[in-house]
Amino acid sequence: MEEVIKVPKREGGIMSLNPWQEAVTNLEAVAKQIGLDKNLLETIEKPDRVLEFKLMIKRDDGSYSIFDGFRSQHNNACGPYKGGIRFHPRVTKEEVMALSLWMTLKCAVVGVPYGGGKGGVIVDPHKLSLTELEKLSRAYVRAVAPIIGPDKDVPAPDVNTNAQIMAWMVDEYSHLKGELSLATFTGKPIEMGGSQGRTEATGRGGVDVLNSLAKYYNLSPQETTVAIQGFGNVGSWFADFAAQEGYKVVAVSDSRGTIYNSQGLDIEEVIKVKKEKGSVTAATGEKLERDGVLSLNVDVLVPAALEGAINEADAEAVKAKYIIEMANGPTTVEAEEILLKRGVKVIPDVLANAGGVTVSYFEWVQNRQGYYWSKDEVFAKLEKIMAQAFDEMMAKVKGERLTHRQAAYANALTKIAAAVQQRLS
Ligand code: NAD
Repeated sequence: MEEVIKVPKREGGIMSLNPWQEAVTNLEAVAKQIGLDKNLLETIEKPDRVLEFKLMIKRDDGSYSIFDGFRSQHNNACGPYKGGIRFHPRVTKEEVMALSLWMTLKCAVVGVPYGGGKGGVIVDPHKLSLTELEKLSRAYVRAVAPIIGPDKDVPAPDVNTNAQIMAWMVDEYSHLKGELSLATFTGKPIEMGGSQGRTEATGRGGVDVLNSLAKYYNLSPQETTVAIQGFGNVGSWFADFAAQEGYKVVAVSDSRGTIYNSQGLDIEEVIKVKKEKGSVTAATGEKLERDGVLSLNVDVLVPAALEGAINEADAEAVKAKYIIEMANGPTTVEAEEILLKRGVKVIPDVLANAGGVTVSYFEWVQNRQGYYWSKDEVFAKLEKIMAQAFDEMMAKVKGERLTHRQAAYANALTKIAAAVQQRLS
């Protein structure tokens, strides 16, 4: 087992920090470890710009509603700002800023030529009709139009936004510009310049990371058991690709419960059942309680559902030897400290789920070339990038005795700092 450097304890505990303070705490700890110049860190840390605006739409019943919207452009030293737009009632400015910082790091970890950005609207989209949702999406574009574009800032879907919303946004932006501008948004429908493989990309990239992990730690897929929390886009594709490649996926969960089979689940059946009956728990296997997935005796645990899904109490119960963070921020700082002490290796989100933004980058490249690739080409290029980022992280874990997260952050910070310095010299 590699020796690990202790994650510094923060004053006040996790609940007293908002997402922005949390992101900054992690960043500053790693910057200190790698001896990054204080002024340089300050330049990298703060978002370049955070736009805050009001969006007004006329509702179907003739009334008017106003929503708060944000776009945080964190850092563009390595390329245009890049990041999704989230529609959610609990969106805050601080959350959007934190997510934009993580995007800057994520893009640098996999070496795609982007900076970080993120957008959000405080809204429960489930309370809007389709027409109202379209109006809100178009209003968002009108608010950010002056600061987005293929070489400025490239938004994408995030929580509660999807390919249809990107199609409306491209349409609105193109009308404002007076020309078709496909490369301003990624995550579009295939018919409107989307990339083959974008839907599967995050799960596919995660399994590329699993393959690299297996190779590095000498795990044979057939003897490696995997449990996955969350069976949405990311979790279901991860399960599907992992099973296809021979890993034994013994448990998957969703918000209603966990389904378990020590001999390995039939993932094709689970996908079908989830689609038809709305939950994985109706599939063949032993039904366990929802959070039972976290404490199963497996080799690899894959949180693919929520932020903060593994807290201190869960960490004590985890029996897996490896965690691959497919969700954003699923392990709290305190939980990670416990896991590391117990020798669990945590492969961080900024690497593990970077397959999504990597294929978004491919979409942008294809739009600009006007030449489109097959799914096989997309996956082959993705695999190369994920494997290289994994190797770069492991080189630092081995050579500098950092945790996997610290190593990934250190690699990202080094690349971003070099770009900032080169611009200033
Ligand atoms: P999704 O909404 O499609 O799926 C979420 C799944 O989690 C659902 O199956 C839901 O039932 C399940 N879930 C919710 N609460 C749960 C609980 N308490 N226990 C078990 N399961 C629970 O979302 P997604 O697109 O798959 O995203 C999942 C995570 O991955 C998020 O953190 C997201 O930010 C992150 N992520 C997604 C992408 C992407 O391309 N979709 C890219 C990078 C990161």
